[in-house]
Amino acid sequence: MARAYIGLGSNQGHQAQNLKKALKLVHEAEGVEVTGVSSVYLTEPVGYEDQPWFYNCIAEVETTLSAEQLLEVLQGIENRLGRERTVRWGPRTIDLDILLYDRVQLNGERLIIPHPRMRERAFVMVPLAEIAPDACFPDGETVIEARNRLGEEKKYICIMQKVW
Ligand code: ATP
Ligand code: MG
Ligand code: MG
Repeated sequence: MARAYIGLGSNQGHQAQNLKKALKLVHEAEGVEVTGVSSVYLTEPVGYEDQPWFYNCIAEVETTLSAEQLLEVLQGIENRLGRERTVRWGPRTIDLDILLYDRVQLNGERLIIPHPRMRERAFVMVPLAEIAPDACFPDGETVIEARNRLGEEKKYICIMQKVW
């Protein structure tokens, strides 16, 4: 059994509903159980800024699936919820990224863990630190340590304490 953290994001359609539906589908997937969910944050877009702000949250899961199998499940859910891939980092109904998977380090073609850009993203590190401050990166750094190194330039606001 592994413990993993999944980052969820949506800025198209009914965003809160998209997060809720995705969480339900993750929980219903064979071999995956959602054991915790952060508050929902409204966050300024990163990378491609000419688009609506995002609704973001983090889910903690326990899973018997391998990291690759978990990615496959998440991509299936993205497709089911109508994700279309057009602009990189552009608008989407739902994005489901694997952030951490135990203390595994992976550098595959399709899957990199820890998620390569997570430590510089407030929209990931703020909600992650809320539910898992003591979770560790493979190099031993804790989530709260990484979160405290972040600058304050990106804007975010907690808008919903319970989506799950
Ligand atoms: P970012 O990865 O910067 O958050 P994104 O989530 O918008 O951008 P996607 O279009 O969702 O990017 O995914 C692009 C590819 O990233 C996927 O096809 C997947 O194979 C790959 N990928 C690599 N590592 C991960 C990971 N840890 N979680 C999810 N996808 C990953
Ligand atoms: Mg992403
Ligand atoms: Mg993604």
